[in-house]
Amino acid sequence: MSTSWLIRDVTVLDGVAAPRPHADVAIVDGLITGVGTALGQPPGARVVEGRGRTLLPGLIDMHGHLGSSAPPGETADWRLVRCARNARAALRGGVTTMREVGNRERVGQSVRDAIAAGMLAGPRLLTSGRMIAPTNYGRPLERVTADDARELRVAVRTLVEEGVDSIKISVSGGGSSRGSNVGRAHYSTQELEIVVAEAHRLGKRVAAHAIATEGIRSCVDAGVDTIEHCGWMGVDGRLEVDDGLIDRLAVQRITVVPTMAVWYRPGYDDLPSLSPDQRLMRAVREERTAVWRAMHERGVRFAAGPDAWEALAPEHALVREVELMVRTLGLAPLEAIRAATDRAAEALGLADAIGTIAAGKRADLVLCGGDPLARIEDLRRRDAVWQGGRLAVEDGRVVDP
Ligand SMILES: [Zn+2]
Repeated sequence: MSTSWLIRDVTVLDGVAAPRPHADVAIVDGLITGVGTALGQPPGARVVEGRGRTLLPGLIDMHGHLGSSAPPGETADWRLVRCARNARAALRGGVTTMREVGNRERVGQSVRDAIAAGMLAGPRLLTSGRMIAPTNYGRPLERVTADDARELRVAVRTLVEEGVDSIKISVSGGGSSRGSNVGRAHYSTQELEIVVAEAHRLGKRVAAHAIATEGIRSCVDAGVDTIEHCGWMGVDGRLEVDDGLIDRLAVQRITVVPTMAVWYRPGYDDLPSLSPDQRLMRAVREERTAVWRAMHERGVRFAAGPDAWEALAPEHALVREVELMVRTLGLAPLEAIRAATDRAAEALGLADAIGTIAAGKRADLVLCGGDPLARIEDLRRRDAVWQGGRLAVEDGRVVDP
């Protein structure tokens, strides 16, 4: 199967250069070798006419859960099947890289390895396996329980031994916590510092689920790499925003993944169906969104991750997040697209390889049948997807490896 291509006369869109209309992109052996005009056809390359269409970097989902919304009591082998199906759907949706932040046992690692071996179709996965969380978090199968400094160190080492790519820790309460207050931190700053130091020493980045403002503060003090949700919940259930902390998020280049698709998901307005903590979080949703907008304006980096719930079609989850970033958060379409491309690649430490369209980058690409800068919903019109130069989706259908 060819991994050399010439995509001709297409609008090339990434956030680094201005959109380039009528450009050619040459791909040789899975790598982009040139972006320009009137490029020659590489030997053995197939040619695609891109006129009237837009070529984007492959999309990067920064907060996925391939097995989310599994029914209680689901076995690990059934979970594996569910994850394989959802990985395929994500790829169909243009997601060529996904950071999977929480699964049970070693399911995420198995799906990752099967995709890498060409046994399954799906995005390149970076999985954190089980999440580190305290005893009161709930979801015992999906966590490594750690309640004090020593257990936190052991938890990081256990996860690295289990083959994870990054560490995910629940720093404050959330919708899945049974016995916690959503406005309170789970761990002290000193405990979190141990997790960050241990993870970084072992070459892993740290993603922190943080709804509570005191948890966000600990994250910034301890130097986590990304903050998930960033809920700004005070101890009393009201929003508690800290301007100094926002400045430090920008200066320390900590990426925020607001997971808007969760806060704005269908059913989240049905208040009686929500847990008490979820009702507290829902009550300040619009205020929180205004804070995120101010954070973005003040230079805090944002990345896109829908925290996919299965009720949303998995192939549209990330695009829905990008659409929410435009329509609800108020980002310019290009900024929202960057949250799912180069900004995400930087947050993963993979900016040398993916996230933009430039010579030397891996040919992870999405050919979009329209102009997403003019109509963000055009991102749903994905005519083709390449992974490392391999045509992985053609006319909306997955091409098996
Ligand atoms: Zn999540």
